[in-house]
Amino acid sequence: MKIFRTKSELRQQVSEWKQQGRSIGFVPTMGALHAGHLSLIDQMNSKADRTIASIFVNPTQFAAHEDLDNYPRTEASDCKKLAEHETDLVYIPSAREIYPDGFSLRVSLDGPAQGLESEARPHFFDGVATVVAKLLLQVRPDFAIFGEKDYQQLLVIQQLVRDLDIDTQIISGPIIRETDGLAMSSRNAYLTSEQRAIAGKLNIILSELAQSQQPPAIAVAEAKQALLNAGFTGVDYAVIRDADTLGDISDETQNRRALIVARLGDIRLLDNMPA
Ligand code: AMP
Repeated sequence: MKIFRTKSELRQQVSEWKQQGRSIGFVPTMGALHAGHLSLIDQMNSKADRTIASIFVNPTQFAAHEDLDNYPRTEASDCKKLAEHETDLVYIPSAREIYPDGFSLRVSLDGPAQGLESEARPHFFDGVATVVAKLLLQVRPDFAIFGEKDYQQLLVIQQLVRDLDIDTQIISGPIIRETDGLAMSSRNAYLTSEQRAIAGKLNIILSELAQSQQPPAIAVAEAKQALLNAGFTGVDYAVIRDADTLGDISDETQNRRALIVARLGDIRLLDNMPA
């Protein structure tokens, strides 16, 4: 497995593969890899001739009070896992490689970027869209894969690629879970054992919300109460939305998605599923 830290090395290798007629698949990550990330690598390996992963903890998607400095960084073990999953190349740029002196661009979207995550993290999707646009232009992949775990992010990236005419097909990967249903996340490492026990209830409450026969407003109110009763310290949102746009649902909306973000202290736990 090749490890490159500069876009010039990356570009040279990608050009070579393209000249050989190989299709390129891309799996962007922030590292601290778990089975969820590795499932995206496996899925991409079966789709593309060459799989490129990136590890970049993107500073522009963190607000000053968030966990940028403490975000888990485990490069050596990440590379070992990526090699075991037959990744062809891992791109690990420095912050300076992505944001050199004088960098001035900010990519900002409306549509699916509005509401939900943006309420708690107004800076977040600008940071994500900016870095993903840059990474897609650096890698120029035929396919790029994003997890449904970050469902709103997936829709934002699809919108980004459409709006900017980026010639990459966006693919989604299903949520990989722990045995009790907790969606795997690099941030789960922050949970104490007491918080970890409560965290497992999120997926059960989300399933009840998604399957509820009650009118949505009642089902949502019940879910919020159930989360607080289970020991969550706050609920950022519990909603049923149009799965294609994340807009409000009507009686005619066929394709629905239930999404919850609940808090355990400072830790935000995200989960979602079809409703
Ligand atoms: P991150 O490193 O958190 O930025 O995540 C990198 C990619 O992995 C994103 O596309 C995430 O949606 C995806 N991902 C994170 N957790 C999971 C999971 N539990 N199952 C599937 N994909 C995931």
